Amino acid sequence: MYYKSNLHKKILTKNKILYLIKKYKTPIWIYNADIIIKQIKKLKKFDIVRFAQKSCSNIHILKLMKKYNIKVDAVSLGEIKRALIAGFKPKNNNIVFTSDILEDEVLEKVIKYNIPVNAGSIDMLKKIGKTSPKHPVWIRINPKFGDGHHIKTNTGGENSKHGIWNPKQALSIIKKYHLNLIGLHIHIGSGVNEKNLYKVCNAMKKYSIQLNEKIQFISAGGGLNIPYKPEDKEINIDNYFEKWNETKKIISSILNCPIELEIEPGRFLVGQSGILVAQVYSVKKMGKNTFVILNAGFNDLMRPILYSSYHKISVLHINKKNKKNSPTIKCIIAGPLCESGDIFTFKKKGLIFYRNIPKVYPGDYIIIHDTGAYGASMSSNYNSRPLIPEILYKKNKFKLIRRRQKIKEMLNLETSI
Ligand SMILES: *Cc1c(COP(=O)(O)O)cnc(C)c1O
Repeated sequence: MYYKSNLHKKILTKNKILYLIKKYKTPIWIYNADIIIKQIKKLKKFDIVRFAQKSCSNIHILKLMKKYNIKVDAVSLGEIKRALIAGFKPKNNNIVFTSDILEDEVLEKVIKYNIPVNAGSIDMLKKIGKTSPKHPVWIRINPKFGDGHHIKTNTGGENSKHGIWNPKQALSIIKKYHLNLIGLHIHIGSGVNEKNLYKVCNAMKKYSIQLNEKIQFISAGGGLNIPYKPEDKEINIDNYFEKWNETKKIISSILNCPIELEIEPGRFLVGQSGILVAQVYSVKKMGKNTFVILNAGFNDLMRPILYSSYHKISVLHINKKNKKNSPTIKCIIAGPLCESGDIFTFKKKGLIFYRNIPKVYPGDYIIIHDTGAYGASMSSNYNSRPLIPEILYKKNKFKLIRRRQKIKEMLNLETSI
């Protein structure tokens, strides 16, 4: 059974995937640009859409974003460089650097390119103020509450390290160093829904009025969730936009200045576009449990072990005989890593769980869905396994956008010194 997602209809078909497997071997990531474009269009009412590139930072994905007038967020020197290579011009607020610290090399770069700094700490403001007076800055406000799909992705409240607790203190530093305050930003977490919308908008209103500075932008942050489980609902974007747009208008009229409304999604734009294809190498019984062991592990896709995330999983049988009348098996789907937590099927709180899938045999393929966000970008070389290829489907063509890392390249960091 190949899980029929409406989103990938006619594009990531069984034959096309088998062709890619033959050409590039497994494991591989495949992204469908049509889905990214479709998601971009859903946000067209917002004045500015800024892609949180940490969710999927491949330069070719960034180029696609740029083509559709999406701006970009960078959270490290590496991400600034990616944005520049993808062709983002630092002028016009195209790249914003968001962080809670400002490392020396980043400081140099943001000054060189006049990249606005979205400050998540007073120390950042002091540092940029001392070296680059008049620099454009945003204040990232911690509104003293947060949300998210997991405690690790909740970015508000006193258990989160993110943002500035006291925006008034930030403003006094901004004044002291004559920094140019251009925007206010609130991002309460990843995997948010409409539940806290009212509260976040109110917080933005409250702080804008409290600071009473003429600003050019407000940012609603990112975090828009996507449906991962069959029962999950799509977020109501129109409602989301309306509430924020109302907030923008109120702030704009109180501060008596035009304001642009920005949104900063990562997952929403790329999550559903991606799949991870891996091969089954072993199907083994351990007491009452059946383990299906793949050649992709949490070094490739980290979300399940990190957040107990649910991803749809489907099967691509290589042998037609396997497919016919294939009974369902209840199994735990695991990777090759030398660590028992290398599992893709968890229940909440990290409890190992099973999944019902059509019976598989070594040689069959497994597809893990909705892995376009926080998939490849979170991969590591754990167990000394190389980074795997990324392939982008665009304009009726499949294009390799990252080749497989060679083991030699990985070891070179140690052998070349
Ligand atoms: C991670 C992050 C985002 C994007 O979160 P998603 O859940 O992928 O939309 C947006 N803004 C900031 C500041 C972030 O840290």
